[in-house]
Amino acid sequence: MKRRTFLAAALAAASGVRAAEKEGARQAAMTPTSTSERIQEEPRSIPIVQDCDVCVLGGSCTGVFAAVRAAQMGARVALVEKQNAFGGVAASGLVNIWHKLYSNDGKEQIIGGLTHEVIQRLAKIRAVTSHGNGKGNFTLNTDELKIELDRLVIENKITPYLHTFYAAPQMEAGRVTAVFIENKNGRQAIRAKVFVDATGDGDLAKDAGLPFEIRNGLQPPTMCAEISGLPGSIFKLIREHREEFGLAPDQGWGADVPGSPGVRMCAYTHVFGTVASDATQLTAAEIEGRRQIRAYMDIARKYGGENNHPCLLDLASHIGVRETRSFTANYKLTEKDVLSCKRFPDAIANGTYHIDVHDPKTGKFKFKEPEGDFYQIPLGAMVSDKAPNVVLAGRMISTDRGAFGGIRVMVNLNQTGEAAGVTASLAASGATPVSQVDAESVRKSLSKLGAVIV
Ligand SMILES: Cc1cc2nc3c(=O)[nH]c(=O)nc-3n(C[C@H](O)[C@H](O)[C@H](O)COP(=O)(O)OP(=O)(O)OC[C@H]3O[C@@H](n4cnc5c(N)ncnc54)[C@H](O)[C@@H]3O)c2cc1C
Repeated sequence: MKRRTFLAAALAAASGVRAAEKEGARQAAMTPTSTSERIQEEPRSIPIVQDCDVCVLGGSCTGVFAAVRAAQMGARVALVEKQNAFGGVAASGLVNIWHKLYSNDGKEQIIGGLTHEVIQRLAKIRAVTSHGNGKGNFTLNTDELKIELDRLVIENKITPYLHTFYAAPQMEAGRVTAVFIENKNGRQAIRAKVFVDATGDGDLAKDAGLPFEIRNGLQPPTMCAEISGLPGSIFKLIREHREEFGLAPDQGWGADVPGSPGVRMCAYTHVFGTVASDATQLTAAEIEGRRQIRAYMDIARKYGGENNHPCLLDLASHIGVRETRSFTANYKLTEKDVLSCKRFPDAIANGTYHIDVHDPKTGKFKFKEPEGDFYQIPLGAMVSDKAPNVVLAGRMISTDRGAFGGIRVMVNLNQTGEAAGVTASLAASGATPVSQVDAESVRKSLSKLGAVIV
């Protein structure tokens, strides 16, 4: 990347609010930032490292849970993750709240499966705090979560690829026949019958030609950190002194870290106007996110009083990305579906988390509450007739902006992972396009494996 281009992007992110206010910011994001020159890459023969039934791209809990369920259905599974650990935003991004597993009236457990199992595993080593007598939210030790996910992968005989980036597909007659990956061993290919895209951004789905949009006014990303010794008045101090430290008006939140009194997981700021599926903007947002953390550390050091000794203990390995590409699958889940708690015959997940949209310019949270006990996510939002052997899982599934604001939390997306794994394995064993896999068979299999299916 040209130095000038990079600096321009960094400055655009640094002036967060200004950037967000510029009408053309989103369009600029889509403009290629490279020179107009091209070079030709020589054709080369690529080793196939694995031939399997199901290949899962992206190893957050969504991706790991997809891989585990596919393996438990009898599939041979590969799991590709670009970070050094599994867990996605929850682990490398430090985001440590899983929301409640119960219906809004508190009477019925509506989320079970691997989410429940992982909470139980973490509870055994005191790496989770359960709020509300088990009927409320959970805060996790996300480093212990990484180790638990490793164990799940090994126990289920999944072939893991860490430090491995999905680069491109090989396509034949509209099907993905293999994916090219890059890691320390160079460029390699994994051949599979069916692929699960759990990359958050939908990198494979995009390359496979599935239609998507990048909505105007994306929810902005946040750099998270674990900090000890912050003054209790930190939010007030940030509000009062933010201008001195170059912070835009914003809204944030924090959470406890199990077993670590005095340590806060801090999600205090946003990098406005970022399209994080664009590499240049993502780079600038990482740097700006870290600058913001330094700014609120400086505020705490300067104005927090003599008795406070703030210490930055852990910085997320990457900025937490809320929203990028949103794909169109056979069904688009709507805000109305979520708010009215619509029931679907092909429901594969249940959720209660309210619609929560972080304002793209001010960071303020806007909530809308569902009108019933819980809503559902249908399998139709994860499969498309246009991609016969790709299943979507995680935040890129087919929703409108409002529905996305609700379903985007992990206890919901974890379930899309489990359903994707089961669907992919049934499609692979039956040589069936994913959109023609019988939804009732998916639901029955999920139920047998421990998911709550209503
Ligand atoms: C700051 C912040 C706070 C949030 N707070 C909460 C909260 O309190 N509770 C909650 O439940 N939800 C919260 N959310 C929302 C939630 O965390 C995300 O919506 C959710 O984690 C998305 O899951 P995912 O699996 O779709 O994506 P991700 O967690 O982003 O996982 C995608 C995975 O794919 C990998 N990947 C991406 N591209 C490639 C590639 N090309 N090759 C290989 N691997 C790749 C990534 O490294 C990553 O591991 C928050 C989000 C953010 C950003």
